[in-house]
Amino acid sequence: MMKFCQKQILIPSILKISKGELNRVGKYLKEKEFTNIAIFLSEGIEELFGEKIYSSLESSGINVMHRDVISDINIENIIHNAFKIPKSVDVLVGIGGGKALDYSKYCAHVLALPFVSIPTSTSNDGFCSPNSSLLVDGKRKTVTAKIPYGVIVDIEAVQTSPKSCIYSGIGDLISKVTAGYDWLKAVEVTGESFNDFAYLIAENTVSDILHYKNHDIRSAEFLYHLVNSLLMSGIAMEIAGFSRPASGSEHLISHALDQITKTPAMHGIQVGIATYICSYIQDNRFKVVKDFLQSTGFFDFVAEKPLNKEEFIEAIRTAPTIKEDFYTILSDKRNIERAIEFIQTDPICLKCLQ
Ligand SMILES: [Zn+2]
Repeated sequence: MMKFCQKQILIPSILKISKGELNRVGKYLKEKEFTNIAIFLSEGIEELFGEKIYSSLESSGINVMHRDVISDINIENIIHNAFKIPKSVDVLVGIGGGKALDYSKYCAHVLALPFVSIPTSTSNDGFCSPNSSLLVDGKRKTVTAKIPYGVIVDIEAVQTSPKSCIYSGIGDLISKVTAGYDWLKAVEVTGESFNDFAYLIAENTVSDILHYKNHDIRSAEFLYHLVNSLLMSGIAMEIAGFSRPASGSEHLISHALDQITKTPAMHGIQVGIATYICSYIQDNRFKVVKDFLQSTGFFDFVAEKPLNKEEFIEAIRTAPTIKEDFYTILSDKRNIERAIEFIQTDPICLKCLQ
């Protein structure tokens, strides 16, 4: 008998991306009838944006019942600290970069409370994904959490974020090109499950930005596209129920590299270079990917502080062992050799991997 199952899909109820949004955080929370909040900030965020955020909360009558500056993302500590949050809190708000958001997203998941994500830099799609990247037994792991109830992005804040964060976001976004290809192949070869809508969303988000012409990475218009696309990539994962729409061979290489190297680069930087290589061996929109990464200055940025070539090659060899039963272009050993040969001869790889 055929089994039907209905999966509940959560879509954020607050989605705000534009200039000046930090001044309106209180208003958005009040509109959803939140009054008592717990707030989690990345280090240095209070100095940069505290005045705007707190005056916005105050003018809307929002009470900050708990406040924490996050530097530690050890899962055991998060669970322990979660139960210190006052019972009167009705929403958790994370503000800043990856750590504060990963921490508060997981904390909200543990307490079964809504979570509002306010990234001030967007170096990957984690600010609106259903997962958190945390330390489990001392190693960085992706653990299931819950997609945010709300996402508020102030483009002015993102504009002032370090160049490395913007390039990392670009690298993580471009990976949907190779991730989508691997997913389709996995369906064909292993019969893995597919979700038309999640695939379509991930595909649309990346093709939208690939053909976008203004590549001034600090322009409000470009950042709006980037943030929007990263956000939709997170939602595609929620719809699919797994990470396939956003993660394929290129992510396996980056995960392998995290295990191998003592000096990991930012997630999206590693993923962006791996995407360039995988799109070549997949023979999948290679020129478009190359042109996009070149015109945004991504390769020049990576070349300023090249990744270690030997470690990268080892990561390509290790990549197929990272996830069990996860078919990608690298599942065929001949493609691993093709990727390594490409690294040794391609002028861009020679510049970015040394
Ligand atoms: Zn990623």
